[in-house]
Amino acid sequence: MSTKDYLEKDYYAVLGVPKTATADEIKKAYRKLARQYHPDSNQGDTAKEAKFKEVSEAYDILSDTKRRKEYDEARTLFGSGVGGQRPGGGGFSFDFGDLFGGTAQGQHGGAGERLGDLFGGLFNRGGGASTPTTTTRPRRGQDIESEVTLSFTEAVEGTTVSLRLTSSAACAACTGTGARAGTTPRVCPTCEGTGAASRNLGNFAFSEPCRDCKGRGLIVDDPCPVCEGSGRAKSTRTIQARIPAGVADGQRVKLKAKGAPGENGGPAGDLYIQTHVKPHAVFGRSGDNLTVTVPVTFTEAALGAEIKVPILKGLPVTLRIPPGTPNGRTFRVRGRGVARKDGTKGDLLATVEVLVPNTLDDKSRELLNEFQTATAGEDPRADLIQRARSE
Ligand SMILES: [Zn+2]
Ligand SMILES: [Zn+2]
Repeated sequence: MSTKDYLEKDYYAVLGVPKTATADEIKKAYRKLARQYHPDSNQGDTAKEAKFKEVSEAYDILSDTKRRKEYDEARTLFGSGVGGQRPGGGGFSFDFGDLFGGTAQGQHGGAGERLGDLFGGLFNRGGGASTPTTTTRPRRGQDIESEVTLSFTEAVEGTTVSLRLTSSAACAACTGTGARAGTTPRVCPTCEGTGAASRNLGNFAFSEPCRDCKGRGLIVDDPCPVCEGSGRAKSTRTIQARIPAGVADGQRVKLKAKGAPGENGGPAGDLYIQTHVKPHAVFGRSGDNLTVTVPVTFTEAALGAEIKVPILKGLPVTLRIPPGTPNGRTFRVRGRGVARKDGTKGDLLATVEVLVPNTLDDKSRELLNEFQTATAGEDPRADLIQRARSE
């Protein structure tokens, strides 16, 4: 029997017994229906035959204590209106991580508590109305999203930033129960704490969140005046967050356990920081490498030279460019780039840009004329024209 079957089939409804039915009541109901639909007394009636199968299947599950328990738990956790539509709102999505995280923390509360938790998690995540929780078992704190704008250098080298975080926490006055201090919520009598109600429309039974307790399974008679029964409060705090070296613009940095504090000893949520990095006037980034464009004169490129190249932090380094360096050639200055996770660093990629003098004094013009005469035999476009013709 799959979980899907568990969610789709209401075995209690099939047998016509309440969820609280005893083993005897289930057996009685089954016997009555089995007699009614047994194929032996309904030769050739396929509808009744199908009904008989359905009844047998329901009895198989509900008569077995262990399987009945599994079925009840599966429906409380996943089924009965939870996966469906939220009244008055759009659909919402499941976060199975949250679901299993919640149940894996041991200490099984009542069914209603778990459903309340589930709704709480879903609604908080969606940013909508928060649902109070009364549970005293550990709850993981919320994940928090934040963002920060860094200078280019801060992003490359890492920095510590102050962040003001607002998160939802348990109301201090009622310790998150939503009930006035000194009072406790009671189990909803309508849904018996399951938080789900089923409505019969002809042959179909629809499951939806219980209207009386809004799917929570619990009812607060005397709401906490501080949180107006929600059980939640906003908490604002300022934290120092370490942004590791080497983050890039648009990167999402995860800081484990820096989100909202957990409740009842549960772990804190995580903090996600969206980073924005301002551009630098001189340097660019290409992955772990920094980039820089370095102007060189025509003679430096032609004759070769030792030139000074700026680095992000510290004194310029000397770069030797060989004679005959063409415009646009990139040189690698090792270890002057962005820090990597393993502690090594990327490189600085220096691209030369050959400058042509735009003003010449008499002496320079004379020397360049002389240079032109000396190189008159070389036509740089000869090969180009040759190749253009031979295509
Ligand atoms: Zn209810
Ligand atoms: Zn409160």
